[in-house]
Amino acid sequence: MSGAAAGGAVCDTVLTGALLADGRRVSIGIRDGRIAAIDASLAGGREEIALGGALVLPGLVDAHIHLDKSLVGDAWQPHRPGKSLTFSVMERVAIEAEILTRAAPVEERAAALVEMAVARGTTHLRSHVDIDPVTGLRSLHAVLAVRERYQDAVSIQVVAFPQRGLVSCPGTGELMDAALREGAEVVGGLDPAGVDHDVAGQLDVVFGLAERHGARVDIHLHDAGAEGLAELDEIARRTRALGMAGRVNVSHAYALGMVPRADAQRTAERLAGAGVSILTNAPGNHAYPSVRQLRAAGVTVIAGNDNIRDAWWPYGDADMLERAMLIGYGSGFLTDEELGVALDLATESAARALGIADYGVRVGAPADLVVVAARNVPEAVVARPPRSHVFKAGRRVAQAGTFICR
Ligand SMILES: [Zn+2]
Repeated sequence: MSGAAAGGAVCDTVLTGALLADGRRVSIGIRDGRIAAIDASLAGGREEIALGGALVLPGLVDAHIHLDKSLVGDAWQPHRPGKSLTFSVMERVAIEAEILTRAAPVEERAAALVEMAVARGTTHLRSHVDIDPVTGLRSLHAVLAVRERYQDAVSIQVVAFPQRGLVSCPGTGELMDAALREGAEVVGGLDPAGVDHDVAGQLDVVFGLAERHGARVDIHLHDAGAEGLAELDEIARRTRALGMAGRVNVSHAYALGMVPRADAQRTAERLAGAGVSILTNAPGNHAYPSVRQLRAAGVTVIAGNDNIRDAWWPYGDADMLERAMLIGYGSGFLTDEELGVALDLATESAARALGIADYGVRVGAPADLVVVAARNVPEAVVARPPRSHVFKAGRRVAQAGTFICR
């Protein structure tokens, strides 16, 4: 068949020799930034790129990153351990504040991390950005500038994140309100019990802002055991009451991985019923929710890199295939089907939870694609092979692992 598919117009670009996740070898025609045709053979596009049988996946989704915190693009910063034996969010925040006063400007570091992520096939990011009376809206403005600068390469959702607490840190709620007026589209939260010691108080502000701005919600929840579980139940209750199914995510939700399985099951069913998704990055040093148990209960589970080479965590290079591998590794995923689940957390499920419209390798969807030197999805997850091309809305934004769209 000719490149003049679906409507008769000639495609701008035709990718030949593309291997799909279902094993078909096809040509993909791209026109006006969207996938115009997927066929056994297409020819005659203005540009033709031969993929030689490489695997084409939808652009990867990093559903949790901190663009303002990362030290990528700056001098190497050795990790500074905390003084207390038990992990404390607020002690880490104090160490971070010290480190960041000497770091390169947010815009410089965030840009370097964006380019790193895109080069590895990420086409959608959700970035939490610190909002507090010390930082004000400075980091927000920097990240919004980076979002605009890279809008042709990656879609970025911004979360107004109260890193220093919300009700316990006066003025933060007003700043988050301002952040949502200025371009953030998600309301963040942080350990309503552990940080604010006022579960109802923090959730009143978070869901109040979400209602006022028509915004989504994404809450960091490290609170442990029964306390964390009760907070998840309360988030599910409020989500249901406000009709916000599919618009609320809880990141980490460690409690689900720390309590007896039957207790986690009850809360998982409440989360599924309310349409609350759970994000994990499968940390190596902490219990985290069972991906298998949550999915079996009907919860949408998604993945993100979270901290990358910052004051919290020295690891990472913004690769969502590596994150899928780490989640699969930590979850004991071995079969092809399970490895497919690991990828799903960073593609289809993440897109659904973030409200990304028309996602996937399908006719009519934006041509957000990553080409991987793998024979199938399981191999892409276990080996994290090089990405030969990354396309955003049909535009080539990375090639041979290098960002090319400035
Ligand atoms: Zn985070």
